[in-house]
Amino acid sequence: MDLNADIIIIGGGIIGISCGYYLSQAGQRVVVVEKASIGTGTSARSFFWANASTKNTDAPYHHLNALGVRLYRSLADHYGAKRLGIHSCGALGIVRASDPVGYTATRDKAARLTALGYPNRWLDNAALRAAEPDLVFPDDTEALFTPDDKIIHARKVMRFFADEIRAKGGILIENCTAQEIRADEDGTITGLNSSLGTITAPKILLSAGPDTAQLLAELTGFDGYSRFPVTKAPGLLVTTPPLSTPRPAHIIYTESGTALQFQPDVGGGIRMGSDETDGLILQDQSPENLRRIGQELLGHVQHFVPGLAAEAETVIDQSALDIGIRPYPADGKTIAGALPGAKGLFVVATHSGITLAPALGKLMAQTIATGTVPDMLHPFGLGRLAGMG
Ligand SMILES: Cc1cc2nc3c(=O)[nH]c(=O)nc-3n(C[C@H](O)[C@H](O)[C@H](O)COP(=O)(O)OP(=O)(O)OC[C@H]3O[C@@H](n4cnc5c(N)ncnc54)[C@H](O)[C@@H]3O)c2cc1C
Repeated sequence: MDLNADIIIIGGGIIGISCGYYLSQAGQRVVVVEKASIGTGTSARSFFWANASTKNTDAPYHHLNALGVRLYRSLADHYGAKRLGIHSCGALGIVRASDPVGYTATRDKAARLTALGYPNRWLDNAALRAAEPDLVFPDDTEALFTPDDKIIHARKVMRFFADEIRAKGGILIENCTAQEIRADEDGTITGLNSSLGTITAPKILLSAGPDTAQLLAELTGFDGYSRFPVTKAPGLLVTTPPLSTPRPAHIIYTESGTALQFQPDVGGGIRMGSDETDGLILQDQSPENLRRIGQELLGHVQHFVPGLAAEAETVIDQSALDIGIRPYPADGKTIAGALPGAKGLFVVATHSGITLAPALGKLMAQTIATGTVPDMLHPFGLGRLAGMG
């Protein structure tokens, strides 16, 4: 293999492929190197909820997520929501008036979202029942409705980005493992050694999701990067088979009682997860434990979806139980920018990557193609990380 590019992207998940899309649009010759198949890492095992509603305490991080949500809307308007797998159904954060702590916190959250300019509406019990006529809620349940939240069929979006990269002359190489970054003595990037040969380029973007820290150490030969502050946080996702009974019309998450998220899945079933059950798979990911926890999750969702209760016995046996590994930055917020000390090496590692992919793609493309970091990206640079300023 003897290839030349303007930029090599390591990692064909939603972040790498979105950066590749916007870089190609900016006229850059892109080569994406993916060790397995495009879009089969964490980006295929996610809850797929694009939102800025759950990120409401830190204004720059909220606005970065809100940009992601807005860009999905523009992409859907321009290329077709169906083609891209973008389902603009909105989300309902349900809360019980008999839970004063949860109720006040959710009302406060609504006020913060309003102050941040993120559309939201409060639904009383009657309005909630009208919005979700097929679900069952206790009489004192109300909801925070955020209409701009979306379900993103990430595999379709990634396919779209990949096709557009190819259409602009870019190359995506699958089953190709990045092995060593090549640089001059002064740290200027010259290319990449991979399992399929050498690629020459003055710039490299590392977007390897949960493998970021380990890969940065391996590729640069500097062990210290194994402490790069991105950890791996596993999460369990249960997706039921197609159901013959009615499903939720929105993304539903609980603000009272057991933490839960569930939503209509593109395959005709219901997709669900919970931060609480995620804690229970940390030590034991045996099939027996996953099944036990999956059943527990289904049990909670059944309280709201009566049809699921009727099919419960068979549903757990036919459900997909999937573990996704979150790339989790130490302070919970995106890491995106140039690696200090190396000339031409960029890193993006983030949770909420389904939401953030278009925003980070667009802003990183500007950073890489023009050399100027957009204001929105400043708070997320690598300079804030200990030992990298
Ligand atoms: C359970 C769960 C639920 C989630 N829910 C949501 C949600 O609702 N909303 C949201 O916005 N986000 C959510 N996320 C987070 C989101 O899925 C991730 O932030 C996002 O998928 C990260 O994308 P990525 O491209 O960085 O990583 P990945 O998709 O993992 O891509 C990285 C790629 O790098 C490749 N790679 C690694 N090493 C090499 C190498 N040496 N050479 C070449 N390639 C290599 C890998 O094979 C992989 O394909 C969730 C995550 C989990 C686990």
